[in-house]
Amino acid sequence: MPYQTINPFNNKLIKEYQTHNDQQVEQTLSAAHALYKSDWGQGDMQQRLKVLHKLSDLMSSRVEELAEIVSVEMGKLIEQSRAEVKLCAEIAKYYADNAEAFLKPVPYKSSLGEAWVEHSPIGVIMAVEPWNFPFYQLMRVLAPNLAAGNSVIVKHASIVPHCAETFEKLVTEAGAPKGAYTNLFISQDQVANIIEDDRVQGVALTGSEKAGAVVAAKAASKLKKSTLELGGNDIFAVLEDADIEHAAKAGAQARVSNAGQVCTAAKRFIIHEKVADEFLKKFTEHFKALKIGDPLEASTTLGPLSSAEALKTLARQVEQAVKNGAKLHVGGKKVADNPGNFFEATILTHITRDNPAYFEEFFGPVAQVYVVKNDEELVKLANDSNYGLGGALFTQDMNRARQLATKIETGMLYVNSPTDTAPELPFGGVKRSGFGRELSDLGIKEFVNQKLVVLA
Ligand code: NDP
Repeated sequence: MPYQTINPFNNKLIKEYQTHNDQQVEQTLSAAHALYKSDWGQGDMQQRLKVLHKLSDLMSSRVEELAEIVSVEMGKLIEQSRAEVKLCAEIAKYYADNAEAFLKPVPYKSSLGEAWVEHSPIGVIMAVEPWNFPFYQLMRVLAPNLAAGNSVIVKHASIVPHCAETFEKLVTEAGAPKGAYTNLFISQDQVANIIEDDRVQGVALTGSEKAGAVVAAKAASKLKKSTLELGGNDIFAVLEDADIEHAAKAGAQARVSNAGQVCTAAKRFIIHEKVADEFLKKFTEHFKALKIGDPLEASTTLGPLSSAEALKTLARQVEQAVKNGAKLHVGGKKVADNPGNFFEATILTHITRDNPAYFEEFFGPVAQVYVVKNDEELVKLANDSNYGLGGALFTQDMNRARQLATKIETGMLYVNSPTDTAPELPFGGVKRSGFGRELSDLGIKEFVNQKLVVLA
């Protein structure tokens, strides 16, 4: 894939980027490994935390400039791009403030002697990242690993090279030495070669199931640990006692935010039959009120999909869903006479289990609505999915919410809020949504040696 910036609002090519050759890859690996072995990776953590503090300040002070780069390159609404940049600054600061406590030795009581587990870096981490949160995905990998002393090499998605390059420059400007964080514009074969290299000790990927399976298999073939954050088909369940007004508004936002291209977006709306008509009416009103337009305009509420390819895939999925019996409640087509990658905000109902759509993730503004009679049906439907990333439940009965939350097979479950993210909360899933966790104390422990020392 060529590395190109194409504005998804009008499909105009802005810039093409030169790829890195094998010699540059080797230089990168060599610098990254040498840095990990040096006093930078092995020595006092404060020098690394200082870089994270500076990176946080840099991003906070350049929100506008950085947000515009995101919006132009992958079509995110400008306000959401600003929020992404601010979140990145928070993540950097969070690890700068807390990494020392997370990585301090943990004592263990033992009959064998004085014992503790200490946390040391393991080497070079290869990260493969997607375009949907083009800075946040990078920060989730960089911040904990930089703090821990690992070096990071990144292959970003080929449609967001400007973000990739900008982020690397920010890390360098914050004071990270050569080798601490390197962006490479490389092919999938070059990624495979890097994963095979003995200097690489961990692999992190966020993206599709297909990419995850290939990259994790390559890592496993060399007995290396990987973390995978893949797709999701998250539920948004509304019980009969929920505040319907609130749920309909939050649900619409949770489906169309980032033009629906979020792994934890609300995708399967599961509504109790007693409130199904009322919910669907209000939910539809929110969808119909969306305003398609330039992501840089504050008044736009639905931006384009990230690429022409993404638009084609989504249009095909909706067409297939309808062919297989789903009813189109609203929307359903590409926006006509528009040079951008716009798809109408769409609601599908009457999706049966034999419809391929039932199991598919729709990475765009397409909601599936299901109606259930009781909690048992809700849980059955929620868990009848190959994915298990996040989910949301709307109810006023917290006891019922707790019980349901425990029964639903996901890595994250929110009550009376769409699935969200914060630096201090673990992020990740089960089943085909992947394994491992990012962010929080759990995220920083993924790629460290939890080494036991015993003084007998
Ligand atoms: P991909 O999984 O193809 O891309 C994600 C990243 O993986 C990109 O950097 C991509 O590079 C890279 N990649 C893909 N295949 C390989 C491989 N064999 N070896 C090494 N690197 C690889 O996602 P798409 O952009 O194609 O989106 C398709 C679907 O993926 C979406 O519809 C959605 O379901 C899911 N997705 C999920 C995301 C999430 O947040 N969990 C984010 C993005 C997508 P390149 O760009 O060069 O192909």
